[in-house]
Amino acid sequence: MRILLIEDEPVLGEAVATHLKRSNHAVDWVQRLDDAEAALRAVDYGLILLDLHLPDGRGIDLLRKLRREEDKRSVIILTARDQIRDRIDGLNSGADDYIVKPFDLDELVARILAVQRRSAAKASSMVRAGSLFIDQVERKAWYEGREVQLTAREWALLECLAQRVGATLSKAQLEEALYAFGSEIESNAVEVYVSRLRKKLGANVIRTVRGLGYRLEP
Ligand code: CA
Repeated sequence: MRILLIEDEPVLGEAVATHLKRSNHAVDWVQRLDDAEAALRAVDYGLILLDLHLPDGRGIDLLRKLRREEDKRSVIILTARDQIRDRIDGLNSGADDYIVKPFDLDELVARILAVQRRSAAKASSMVRAGSLFIDQVERKAWYEGREVQLTAREWALLECLAQRVGATLSKAQLEEALYAFGSEIESNAVEVYVSRLRKKLGANVIRTVRGLGYRLEP
């Protein structure tokens, strides 16, 4: 799952983005509402971290717009300690949770997990592909009954495939999942990570569809 972080305080934004990446979350960080709207049009984010006071407008307006459009993506608002009104407005406008600045980064990760659990309780989080089981909320995978340890990028690629078991995903779609970890993506990155996943999950789980891409076999 990819996270969009909308926060204009550079030190806080940097700290949150870095910490979430270390916790195996793919994060894009923007500092303005217009950049956030462009990012939301381009990428299917699973969760949004939303500061409410941004240089070009109010985060609450973006949240209300999303909910008006029946966009049910999880949103956690980032609010200042003295802005109790913000928290109430945020929750009333459809935020899933809030966290008060300054916050502990591990607490933020825990809240993200809790919000994901709640939203996954609605949609089942377990995906099966042959002998492979993937828990998209706990971010764990088991192959033939044994838990498989994956790096952040291996996980990002597998998660992307797992969201559409049986469908063929293009190299470009899979590259997008890897881009979130930085711009230093090599042209053969998808091949490299598919090959690493095959070493861990067996050769047959991820199938190459010649000329089209890759898919997880159901
Ligand atoms: Ca702000």
